[in-house]
Amino acid sequence: MLQVYNTLVKKKEDFKPIKDKSVSFYQCGPTVYFIQHIGNMRAMVLADLIKRSLEYAGYKVKMARNYTDVGHLTSDDDEGEDKITLAARKEKLSPQEIADKYIKLFEADVKELNCQEPKYKPRATGYIKEMKNMAQILLDKGFAYATDLAIYFDISKAKDYTKLSGQDLSKNMAEAGKGEITDSQKKNPADFALWFFKAGAHQKAVQTWTAKFKLPDGQVIKKEGFPGWHLECSAMNRSLFGPTIDLHMGGIEHIPVHHTNEIAQSEAVSGVKFVSYWLHNEHLTVDGEKMSKSSGTAYSLSDLKNKGYDPLVLRYLFLQAHYRSKQNFTWEALEASKVALNNLQNVIARSMATKQSHGKINTKFKDKFIGAISDDFNVPQALALVWEVVKSDLSDGDKLSTILDFDKVLGLGLDKIKIEKIPQEVKQLAGQRLEARNNKNWAESDQLREKIAGLGYSVEDEKDGYKLKKK
Ligand code: AMP
Ligand code: ZN
Repeated sequence: MLQVYNTLVKKKEDFKPIKDKSVSFYQCGPTVYFIQHIGNMRAMVLADLIKRSLEYAGYKVKMARNYTDVGHLTSDDDEGEDKITLAARKEKLSPQEIADKYIKLFEADVKELNCQEPKYKPRATGYIKEMKNMAQILLDKGFAYATDLAIYFDISKAKDYTKLSGQDLSKNMAEAGKGEITDSQKKNPADFALWFFKAGAHQKAVQTWTAKFKLPDGQVIKKEGFPGWHLECSAMNRSLFGPTIDLHMGGIEHIPVHHTNEIAQSEAVSGVKFVSYWLHNEHLTVDGEKMSKSSGTAYSLSDLKNKGYDPLVLRYLFLQAHYRSKQNFTWEALEASKVALNNLQNVIARSMATKQSHGKINTKFKDKFIGAISDDFNVPQALALVWEVVKSDLSDGDKLSTILDFDKVLGLGLDKIKIEKIPQEVKQLAGQRLEARNNKNWAESDQLREKIAGLGYSVEDEKDGYKLKKK
């Protein structure tokens, strides 16, 4: 039975999707205003590993990873300016051109990291109608109120507002009151905006939509405005999957604000549980510090490629830490991953070149592999099993079949390794030569090497075999 650590109950639980073998899975995706760093990429690879693990375990996964292309302010609370608008001004492009540009770069990066495409890739600006609709339902049900600047969610009305974070709300409210942009008409400092009006600090907002709302006192207002970031994810979830979804994932920083607010508004609208299992990934640090643009450590995948690293080396590095553990990036660790991946690729290439027939997936190792991923997606343990298979006494064919099966989850693209077609005659001579060497028959071994050379191949001896290369 698959066990999943659920942030909502702070323990591992048996995984039981709503619809038997079909799983709805939403991941909070990137705000597309800049080149994503390798920390963001870790979050994407971790979600991909979870999706692949579920599929390996026999589930059909409907995954959504959104693009935030409006409404994410420079602070996760309701403070600051829209990140996309700021980038648009700086780069002299329209907000949607900014989003298009960074979505394209992001998609190229995740593809190179061998992440599978999610079924849905919704853009927030494609769901404005659903967002307005949810804000209206919340006004009608008495969970929301309007000021001159925004429509707010009244957190005192939510049932158990802090159930995800377990935070002390008085502290949270004191923090929320400290920002520079305060709205004196707000009931609670920690109430959050569902919809901002083009007014006050957002007078100059560029991406706005006309919206008509009926207020609780019967008054109808029609104004320009834009959605709050939290409402966006609630609306996209509701549109794509309905009121309740199986899995929702995001970075740990989303627990106290973004996800807390998603739960409050989604459950207030539907009256039912929003998410069955909340998954949160820990962050990537660089040299033990938070990644930051100012310290030059917000490396992108291109930075790594420019130093000669294959993106799959970064994926291999990510496989070595559990999604709920912090991982520290260093160039030394990346180099070690490069060596390890290279060794693994060599093992595969050699098995592909020498195996006589297709092997079988070893059930003993497969059971252990399923055990690892069923324990809250323990990918590092699953990777360790790959090396156990390599070192085992299984035949080359069985090793190959077993590792390629595991790679459906790990995603290292091992099935795509290209091997040269070596003629059967050369392979036979190399096999005879290995036997001669094993029998310490050096003269015969040398003769066979020359024969192989005569056919245009060189043979290099290795610890437990040999490698054939075209000269
Ligand atoms: P953002 O573009 O800031 O909205 O972030 C997109 C995703 O990347 C979110 O799920 C974040 O939690 C995640 N993320 C941001 N920084 C890091 C980091 N250093 N390590 C891992 N994930 C991160
Ligand atoms: Zn979200």
